[in-house]
Amino acid sequence: MPLSDIQDRIEKAAQTANRDPAEITLIAVSKVQPNARVQAILDQGHRVFGENKVQEAAGKWPDFRQQYEHIDLHLIGPLQTNKARQAMTLAQSIHSLDRPKLATTIARIAQETGACPDLFIQVNTGEEPQKAGVLPTDTDSFVAEARALDLPIKGLMCIPPVDEEPSLHFALLAKIAERNGLAGLSMGMSSDFERAIALGATHIRVGSAIFGERVPT
Ligand SMILES: *Cc1c(COP(=O)(O)O)cnc(C)c1O
Repeated sequence: MPLSDIQDRIEKAAQTANRDPAEITLIAVSKVQPNARVQAILDQGHRVFGENKVQEAAGKWPDFRQQYEHIDLHLIGPLQTNKARQAMTLAQSIHSLDRPKLATTIARIAQETGACPDLFIQVNTGEEPQKAGVLPTDTDSFVAEARALDLPIKGLMCIPPVDEEPSLHFALLAKIAERNGLAGLSMGMSSDFERAIALGATHIRVGSAIFGERVPT
């Protein structure tokens, strides 16, 4: 779907929810997409992208940055502690802070380098055993822990279970964010970003609706 159609849909969803569309950041999720498709979106002026693997991001974004200014890269996938430093160099935001060990590692590197990406804490709203994220009941204390480490926590992120109504998860995430005084809500993907906007999303992560189906590598 053309990028402008996605932007129109964002605008409509924002209007319906009485929200300013400018509050909503569209993260174009470029993982596993051929470079030509990514380049086409860059050529249309879009600058905010998401990747879910550090290695893949490292393989393409330094090159794109040579050609295009002001790229804003968001790491949205699980992050291993031993890749934290590389992730912090590559990305302006990390959406997958999900455990104390990663928080202390990021804090140590941030102290050392004097720089830290914006951070979102991933919440496992569906309490799925195979999925990353802090459990909803543990989120308040984890937010406090991360703040005590002086980490720049901007908000919360979730990936709802595939077989459940996402709105319930978006509403839960919004509630947890609100009681913790967090403004950022990273939620909503190709199939449900309008519902996420209705429930307060500030960052939507849209891949296949922009780029087409992911090409298997
Ligand atoms: C791949 C991915 C997306 C985008 O998914 P689409 O359904 O293609 O929009 C969003 N968030 C995360 C965490 C992802 O890994």
